[in-house]
Amino acid sequence: MKSGFELRSVSKKYDGVMALSDISFSIEPGESLAIIGPSGCGKSTMLRLLAGLEAPASGEILLNGSLISKADQILLLPHQRGIAMVFQDLALWPNLSVLDNVLLGLAAQPLSKQEKHRKAIEALTLCKIEALSDRKPEKLSGGQQQRVALARALAAEPDFLFLDEPFSGLDLVTKITLLEEISLLAEKKKITLVLVSHDPIEATTLCRQTVVLNQGRIEESGIMRDLLREPKSQILRVFRENMTGLVW
Ligand code: ADP
Ligand code: MG
Repeated sequence: MKSGFELRSVSKKYDGVMALSDISFSIEPGESLAIIGPSGCGKSTMLRLLAGLEAPASGEILLNGSLISKADQILLLPHQRGIAMVFQDLALWPNLSVLDNVLLGLAAQPLSKQEKHRKAIEALTLCKIEALSDRKPEKLSGGQQQRVALARALAAEPDFLFLDEPFSGLDLVTKITLLEEISLLAEKKKITLVLVSHDPIEATTLCRQTVVLNQGRIEESGIMRDLLREPKSQILRVFRENMTGLVW
């Protein structure tokens, strides 16, 4: 039995337009995968299919060897997949305190109020913002808001953390600090990371593997470091040039 996610020839259409065509790959537990590619290439669609927020038009998605999505059917619901997501807009509730925002991440869990509170504080501590528990999100910096969204995602102790371009708009130092901390947290908590991004710094700091999409198809995939030696895709060529600039 294969553990982790497996996509078998997955396609997705919107109003007759192919957003993804014939996608096959696996995400093994403990892996860190960047789904990269130009705007509109199908990255977010891929994440939504993995999350069970949408069903494929054809193909199969398996989790730990069990079929969880097939043509036009979601067989395992998002909250049953062991995933947590952080989106670009973070989706924090402005009228709720930081603590209450994080508690929302535990709403679906069969836990007592005390236990939820304990887990929320633990996640806030992990993300180094426990001192901000009583504040409203608008009273926080961009980086602190990211940490709240992250704490909410981590509170439920997911097996998989899906990140859809959540670091856009952060300054470089804040971004790199956060990325390094997420990397360490994922290792410590054995969380598999799936990042959607078009940013070389994000993708290479956080992820070992990559799938490059172009117009809904896989252009290349594998270990990021290997692919960067001789990139086939334009985006990895750009990554390489940018990284050389940074290193030297
Ligand atoms: P990315 O995240 O790589 O920018 P998306 O996965 O959001 O790309 O979109 C892939 C393609 O599918 C785009 O052409 C986009 O316009 C289209 N698309 C995405 N979501 C919808 C939707 N809900 N309805 C119609 N078309 C959509
Ligand atoms: Mg997107």
